[in-house]
Amino acid sequence: MAVTGRFAPSPSGRIHLGNILCCLLAWLSARQKGGRVILRIEDLDIARCPRRYGEQMCRDIQWLGLDWDEGPVIGGPSGPYEQSRRTALYQAALRRLEAQGLVYPCFCTRAELHAASAPHREDGQVVYPGTCRGLTAEQAAERARRTGRAPALRLWVPEEEITFTDGHMGEYREWLPADCGDFLLRRSDGIFAYQLAVVVDDAAMGVTEVVRGADLLASTPRQLLLYRLLGLEAPAFYHFPLLLGSDGQRLSKRNADAGLDTLGERYTAPEILGKLAYLAGFNPSAEPRSGESLLEDFAWEKVPRADIRIPEGLF
Ligand SMILES: [Zn+2]
Repeated sequence: MAVTGRFAPSPSGRIHLGNILCCLLAWLSARQKGGRVILRIEDLDIARCPRRYGEQMCRDIQWLGLDWDEGPVIGGPSGPYEQSRRTALYQAALRRLEAQGLVYPCFCTRAELHAASAPHREDGQVVYPGTCRGLTAEQAAERARRTGRAPALRLWVPEEEITFTDGHMGEYREWLPADCGDFLLRRSDGIFAYQLAVVVDDAAMGVTEVVRGADLLASTPRQLLLYRLLGLEAPAFYHFPLLLGSDGQRLSKRNADAGLDTLGERYTAPEILGKLAYLAGFNPSAEPRSGESLLEDFAWEKVPRADIRIPEGLF
């Protein structure tokens, strides 16, 4: 089967080292198999991800020399390529889940959820304790009146273990009731949840392999459940280790040095890609490399599974 990979950055600022490594790995993994690459902008929360950030992200990826076959700028058959313009598709998927009786309104606030003694997942998220599960229509209407809040919508998660084999990290399993809980499909402000949107989009765009950071490994069982419930075919997954700063902390937008606005002034694109490929195990030294030249050296087996700490002075 023809391989289709994708870049799916969430543009809340300039592209940073973590996104760049993600784009590089997704590009290499797909191109090495002769596959296509789609670019999708994950701007569901358009207030946090204004349009100009998405446009900047496209320019950043182009500057790195990583191309795409379908997406913003060049268009293609499965557009639009901004999630903020695809809500009708998410709405249709939500209706299919509602028709199966699997969606219910939740009136809990974030503060209430954190105050409840719900177990916390490794990634710091709260496992929903099921407070609003099984409310009758009358009870739901009464809560809406009393709280004056629009409800969020949650998926009724079955008592089931989901197991899958990640293309890089190996076997991963999750017992849905305890490790995941009933998760959000749509927030109370009407914004669709990432979990639903990413499944709908990857399926609609014919994506066959998803390359992304290991911080999303734990959300994969939820997505696999949605693929099944929506009757869609799931892609292969490859989760790669997270980049840590020289202080051992996760890179984030707070690491100003890790953003392309700073990096781009100090390094060329091949210098940045070469250093990242070195850290990720498929460049023998930190010498500059183009994406194209790395095709012959890249192999998932060379990429470590543990988090990668960026040595002091490399960037
Ligand atoms: Zn609730």
